[in-house]
Amino acid sequence: MMPLPPGRGAARGDTVELPEADTGPGAAADRPRHAAARHLADAVLSDDPRRRIRLTQWLTSVLVYLGSAAVLWVGSRQGWVYAASFIAWSGFLVVAQLAVYVALRSGWSERLNDPALTAAQIVLGVVAVEWGYVICGPARSVTLLPLLLIFTFGAFSLSWRRILWLTVFALTSLIAVAAALHATRPGTGTWSLDNAELRIDLTNVMMILILLPAISLVAARLSSLRSRLRSQRTRLTAALAEVQRLATHDELTALANRRHMQERLTQEQSRFQRLGHPFSIALIDLDHFKFVNDRHGHGGGDEVLRKFARGASAALRAGDVIARWGGEEFLLLLPDTQAPEAQESVERLLAEIRVLPLEDGVPLTFSAGVTEHRPGETVTETVARADRAMYAAKQAGRNRALRQ
Ligand code: GH3
Ligand code: MG
Ligand code: MG
Repeated sequence: MMPLPPGRGAARGDTVELPEADTGPGAAADRPRHAAARHLADAVLSDDPRRRIRLTQWLTSVLVYLGSAAVLWVGSRQGWVYAASFIAWSGFLVVAQLAVYVALRSGWSERLNDPALTAAQIVLGVVAVEWGYVICGPARSVTLLPLLLIFTFGAFSLSWRRILWLTVFALTSLIAVAAALHATRPGTGTWSLDNAELRIDLTNVMMILILLPAISLVAARLSSLRSRLRSQRTRLTAALAEVQRLATHDELTALANRRHMQERLTQEQSRFQRLGHPFSIALIDLDHFKFVNDRHGHGGGDEVLRKFARGASAALRAGDVIARWGGEEFLLLLPDTQAPEAQESVERLLAEIRVLPLEDGVPLTFSAGVTEHRPGETVTETVARADRAMYAAKQAGRNRALRQ
């Protein structure tokens, strides 16, 4: 007669929030009351979201035990439950539930692999039900109903193996309790089927033998569905992160790709419009890259592109962004930087790139066009000017950065 909805296990990410104070008339007067209720709830149920869910489940089970205790109390007043038995049953549950509360509230249970104490609370529920079966005399059959409820709660957090073991425990202990009850019943110590009391216990046990495994099977299937969903969610999250990386990064060099740089340029342009923060860009084209490929082969050329990407990333300031714009062209964005300072940065970069150790010792160089974004122009116009400056740098003999 005392169903126990145990904790839902690790409350992954769910939070239990008290409703916010509403803003209608009289809300101001209600606010202190709401705040007091929130403080009380935080003190009793903890403000840690996971503990909060476990303790809320525990509180639900307390309410169900209280309801069951009320029914037993009526039974004891009517004479079909012994008052002494009722007091012992209640006392045991008060102590056990307090112990569960302390273990959950203090965080002690978090060192276990069942931090919500779901299995322990199911065992406690089974004990409470079977004890109820012993003390409820002619009304005992109905005390078995909560067993079915108890096991559905296992579906939220237990593996099918644990559900199986708990089912075996509930069935064997029920058979033992029913047999012991029958054997010790005064004046009815007979195992003949003519005995009505034996027929009741046998029917009860057989019904539970059929129903409990069925319920546990459903719980186990729900539980495995839940864990499959969880692992699918983990895989989806990883896949999404990978898709995001692929969408914004260049496969060969691992630098930002052209699309990502377009977005960054648009962001920088709107920052310029809103706040007046200047920004500059540099279009960088590696010099005579066809020869690099000719000397090292296409794979060797790829390796040089990677080397350039690593060298440039290491040499740049924290806020600067470099992207692979296409082929052996790169676009460098220098936020909060005016053109002369940007040109100095690019020349410093050129000096660092020139000394990169390449296999045949021929220094790697690039030509760059540097420019600053101007009021009223589009990002495309800024990039086109950088492109013209880069072309001018090529014309002027390469291995340099020119500004327009
Ligand atoms: P310059 O820019 O100094 O005028 O000479 P260049 O030889 O670099 O000129 P061009 O732009 O005509 O050639 C670029 C070369 O870069 C041609 C192309 O095969 C090579 N290239 C472009 N993308 C890649 C790549 O991903 N890997 C390799 N290995 N080579 C590439
Ligand atoms: Mg080129
Ligand atoms: Mg080139």
